[in-house]
Formats: sequence, structure tokens, C-alpha cells
Amino acid sequence: MTIRDIIIKYTEKLAEISDTPRLDTEVMLLSALGEENRLYLHINLNKEIDEETINKFEKMAEERLNGRPIAYIVGNREFMGLDFYVHEGVLIPRPDTEPLVEEIIDICSADEYRKKETIDIIDIGTGSGAITVSLAYYIKNSFVTSCDISEYASEIGKKNADSNGVSENTEFLVSDLFSSVEDGKKFDIIVSNPPYIRKDVIETLHTQVKDYEPYNALEGGEDGLDFYRRITADSIDYIKDGGILAYEVGHDQAEDVSEIMKGYGYGKIYTKKDIQGIDRVVIGTKL
Ligand code: SAM
Repeated sequence: MTIRDIIIKYTEKLAEISDTPRLDTEVMLLSALGEENRLYLHINLNKEIDEETINKFEKMAEERLNGRPIAYIVGNREFMGLDFYVHEGVLIPRPDTEPLVEEIIDICSADEYRKKETIDIIDIGTGSGAITVSLAYYIKNSFVTSCDISEYASEIGKKNADSNGVSENTEFLVSDLFSSVEDGKKFDIIVSNPPYIRKDVIETLHTQVKDYEPYNALEGGEDGLDFYRRITADSIDYIKDGGILAYEVGHDQAEDVSEIMKGYGYGKIYTKKDIQGIDRVVIGTKL
């Protein structure tokens, strides 16, 4: 079979379960071939593929047909231009989360922050380390503490910090929200993309989310707002005066989260939209 034959055959097959069948096929084929650039496929369409590679590819395609997310199959996902190892047990980083990271990078480019020797940031809910590692990578004078209740997420976060060269300005704690953070420690910026899906919505999610991604990365209680209430309440003990609290929120949660923040003395609250025009980020200042 040639590269062209495989692309045609599996693009058709995967269309049954995926919105991006051609991309999925190409990504798995590249992984089976040990290549990185899709251009390789396009300039080698007539190349015959050896049996070992075909077997490797077909095993991956079978998993994909069963609904396993492509990122878990190939073991990585790009986020903010960086490469993250991912496996079941950590949430796959989403493009929806990039506006939150971009906004914090933007805030930290202001003189007030650039002049600081160290900007102390804490990320609640490490997952793959997507937010933590990107902030540490793009904000050179930051030190990012990353907390997750999952020991596995903490391990993966650390692995991704190492592979992206930011192990020096990150630390990973296994922690129920702030519970493992040193008493009296105060941060310039508290950031979180917490679990925010309403309990009754979880069952309606796509198989590749509800059957493969970790439940404790998704469920935010009856109204989806449990973590915003808990983190905002606890943040008061860990935020510096004038510090920033920044959240990613679900598509209809921006107003409720703003109200929760106001209730704990946060002001100058504003929202940022994602690429689809949805209010996805809520930011406030501790007055
Ligand atoms: N920050 C990552 C990202 O944006 O891709 C992961 C976000 S995921 C929506 C939420 C994370 O919060 C999961 O990794 C989950 O394990 C973690 N989490 C859930 N409950 C927690 C708790 N009580 N304390 C700390 N982390 C928690």
C-alpha cells in the first residue's frame, strides 16, 4: 500500500467517528512512520509503506475507530506552540485555554510586572501542565507553582516542564487546591482552568471525552461552579494585594463567575472572548 492508498482508505473509514478524518489519518501515519511534518506525506504520496509500519498504523486506526482521542493515541498535543506529552489520566489541552494564557502573558508584559525580579504565579489544576509550562516558557521572570489533586497529572506536568526546558522556574505539588502550598505564601497571579462541566451534562458529552478523559478534570458539581466558589474563597489567603485572579470558564458561566469574584472583594473584572466569540476568560484584581 502507498501513502496515498492509506490516506484515501482511512479518511473514508474514520469519517464515521471523526470530524477530521483526513487529519487524524495523516497524524497517525506520520507517527507510525516516525516523521513529524505533514509535508513528508504530501511529497511521498506514491511511496510504498512496509508491513511493520502498516501494522503499527492499523493498530492506531483501530483505537481511533473505537473512539480513543487522537492525542492519546500518538501521545502528544501542541498548545501555545509547545509540545505536550499526554496520556489517559490528564486532560488533553484545548485551544479554548489559549486565550487565558495569552491574556496573562499580556498582563505580565506591562512595566509593573516586567520590572519584578520574580512574578509568582500559581496554577490550580495542572493536567498536562499546559498552562503552567506555557506561562513559565513565555514569561521569563515568572516562577509557576502548579497544583493538582492527581499525582499522575503532577508527574506528567513535571515531565512536560522538563521537555520544554522550564523545570527551573516551575514546581509541581500534589495538592487539593491550595492545601500543599506553604502557609503565608502569596502570589501575584492565581490562574485556573478548573473542572467546570455540570454533573448532568457529563453523560451527554462525546465518547472521546466522557469515556477517555479523567472525570475529575471535567465535573464541576451540580451547576458547574463548585471550583470557582472554592478557589475564589481560598484565593483570599494566597493572593497579594493588587494580585490577579484569572479563570477559564464554560460557555455560559462568565457572569456567574464574575459575581462570585465580586463577592470576595475582586474588582476591575473583565472578560475575554475565545476564537468563537464566547466569553471564555474572566479576570479580576484583588482590591
Ligand atoms: N490546566 C490543564 C489544562 O488547562 O489543560 C487541566 C485543566 S482540567 C479542566 C482540571 C484539572 O484540575 C485536572 O487536572 C484535575 O485533576 C484537577 N483537579 C480536580 N480537582 C482538584 C482539586 N481538588 N485540587 C487540585 N486540582 C484538582
